[in-house]
Amino acid sequence: MDIEPFRLWIEEIAGSVRAEKDMLTRLDAAIGDADHGANLERGFDAALQAVRDRAPATPGALLTLVGTTLIRKVGGASGPLYGTAFREAGRALGEAPAVSAADLAGALEAGLAGVVKLGSAAEGDKTMVDALTPAVETLARAARDRDDLTGRELAEALRAAAEAAGKGAEATIPMQARKGRASYLGPRSIGHRDPGATSAALIVSALHRAVTR
Ligand code: ADP
Ligand code: MG
Ligand code: MG
Repeated sequence: MDIEPFRLWIEEIAGSVRAEKDMLTRLDAAIGDADHGANLERGFDAALQAVRDRAPATPGALLTLVGTTLIRKVGGASGPLYGTAFREAGRALGEAPAVSAADLAGALEAGLAGVVKLGSAAEGDKTMVDALTPAVETLARAARDRDDLTGRELAEALRAAAEAAGKGAEATIPMQARKGRASYLGPRSIGHRDPGATSAALIVSALHRAVTR
């Protein structure tokens, strides 16, 4: 993969966050402070603009720029967490002008590790980690099973990863939140889908669309 699918990924994320902004806000209104949709719209619009203005030369530089922009533009929990994810993923890719499916899987593993290190959420805590973990594991498994994936195999692995993220987000509904604002509600957080897990699933689906576009 050269830089183009990465640029498309950010475009797809910004579009889907814009389209799903009200839904994300509603989810955050139920167990948080009703700003998740606005936070991500502001962040990914700024990230897309930064990519257009600064025209980074490599996939790694692009992801790093996106991460830095998210941290700068989005307050709250999700800005630093997603920002760190993109920055760590960018750092893992280094300066390479093109990357393999295995490199991509490794970068997403590094991004998830960054989220876990910063937020110290485990699976089952009702956060974005519940959607990101199964998605990253699905892609990493596919990339490990083969020396390198063809374009079609990568698309199929990302489709499976997006499905795993969606299931992970769905699985947050019966959980009690143990991290972030929703945890202040204690057992009253049960019965609601986590907004960050939901946006994480949108972000993984956007990557699938970006490589098949
Ligand atoms: P805030 O809660 O500061 O208003 P957002 O509404 O933008 O920020 O994001 C909330 C989401 O952030 C939650 O739904 C959850 O998925 C995620 N989140 C919160 N705290 C953590 C954490 N410690 N680790 C991982 N994800 C977290
Ligand atoms: Mg919020
Ligand atoms: Mg907030």
